[in-house]
Amino acid sequence: MPSSKTRIAVVGGGVAGLVIARHVVAKLNSYNLVLFEQTDHIGGTWVYTDETDVDKHGLLIHSSMYKNLRTNIPKEVMAIPDFPFQDLGGPSFIHHSLIKKYLMSYAKHFNLYPYIKLNTLVKRVEPETINGRTLWMVTYESLETKTETTKIFDAVVLCNGHYTVGRIPHIPGIESFRGRCVHSHQYRVPEVYTGKKVCILGASWSGIDIAMEVLQYADKVYLSHNLPEQLKSKISSNLEQKPGVQSIQGNIFTFRDSSTVEVDDFIFCTGYKFTYPFMSAKVEIRTDDDHVEPVYKHLVHMDYTNLFFMGLPAMVIPFPLFHIQAQYILGVLEDRIKLPSAQQMREEYEIEKNSLLDKGIPLRHINKLKDRQWAYYDQLATAANVTGFLPVVKKVMTHVLQMREVDFTTYKNYQYRIIDSENFSVSYCKPC
Ligand SMILES: Cc1cc2nc3c(=O)[nH]c(=O)nc-3n(C[C@H](O)[C@H](O)[C@H](O)COP(=O)(O)OP(=O)(O)OC[C@H]3O[C@@H](n4cnc5c(N)ncnc54)[C@H](O)[C@@H]3O)c2cc1C
Repeated sequence: MPSSKTRIAVVGGGVAGLVIARHVVAKLNSYNLVLFEQTDHIGGTWVYTDETDVDKHGLLIHSSMYKNLRTNIPKEVMAIPDFPFQDLGGPSFIHHSLIKKYLMSYAKHFNLYPYIKLNTLVKRVEPETINGRTLWMVTYESLETKTETTKIFDAVVLCNGHYTVGRIPHIPGIESFRGRCVHSHQYRVPEVYTGKKVCILGASWSGIDIAMEVLQYADKVYLSHNLPEQLKSKISSNLEQKPGVQSIQGNIFTFRDSSTVEVDDFIFCTGYKFTYPFMSAKVEIRTDDDHVEPVYKHLVHMDYTNLFFMGLPAMVIPFPLFHIQAQYILGVLEDRIKLPSAQQMREEYEIEKNSLLDKGIPLRHINKLKDRQWAYYDQLATAANVTGFLPVVKKVMTHVLQMREVDFTTYKNYQYRIIDSENFSVSYCKPC
């Protein structure tokens, strides 16, 4: 018997998966839902583990959390809009363990657990045309019983995250390096670098955050990056900025300005790759140069409009973004949002992409929305007819970024309080 309800499969029980589940569960008259999560816990990257390589089932450790990580977005604006943090006092930039707790409360509050299959790995997602409609055959394995099952769904939402498989550029001579060499995905604690000379390659959020931790223990930290300008923040005397690493010979690193230093340990903070290992080869998904195509509005597959990708944009405020993306997805499924034809979506997308490339933004940075994020939120929210980001959110984030530029080491000591949709207050608190 064909189901009268729309059957939705969600791949992944991180924040994105939980948020789409919350909106589907609110409409169970119209939907059936299964959320597949390969680990034994919800929360995705917020589930810290000391392990760094593979889990008890031989799967790559998913989380990239490090032990001391505090959020880089104040909780007052990081929260999912319909579920503020319960403790509205205290610090704004909070330890990752509190985010995991918050997500567990969210799942409980919205009664999501009955729809979540833990320890269940999605192995294949295959399109099948039945009566002119594309349906999805989802094959999943219970990691406990090792049994495989295939079920049919009307729509699939991919929420499998993209901070697990590190991008590691090839550096001539790297094979001769004998020190400890990890990607930020495997970084957990700074103490192991006590007394060492450490080179950190990459000065985006993780590179800087990890450098700030490591320099408290290391003898010397070389923060190597190819940014057009040196970072201007106040910097500790044992941190030195260097251009990108050109080559390595044993423990001697040569940088692009031909300077050389001796290094004991090396940390790649060079970003991550998008991967969809379970997706059928019939479905075109290109992920070269850290860019996923063909996806309309960073969200909908252009040829399969019942296949969605949550969480592709970076340099955004992810939790509230997921809240809007989820409602947009339901708008598409319920035909309240009319998508253009596949050809029109492609044309619209190519115009936008080419204009960004013309401005000198490389392909791999197109999903890093930064200043473009606000227009993106507005577009999705308007199309979905839901509340977008309040003006105060942008104001808070502008303040955070300014304070971070002045001093990486102290910007997380500010406490923000939202007064109303336009205004906030901020105070500086000594670290606890
Ligand atoms: C180190 C670090 C620090 C960050 N700091 C912040 C911050 O301060 N503030 C902020 O807002 N954001 C931060 N982020 C961004 C963060 O990634 C997002 O906030 C958010 O957690 C992304 O959620 P997600 O659901 O897209 O992915 P994830 O959290 O990665 O969840 C994906 C889930 O999918 C599951 N999965 C994958 N493949 C399969 C499969 N085949 N079958 C079944 N399950 C599968 C995984 O096990 C995982 O549970 C940080 C990210 C990192 C890596």
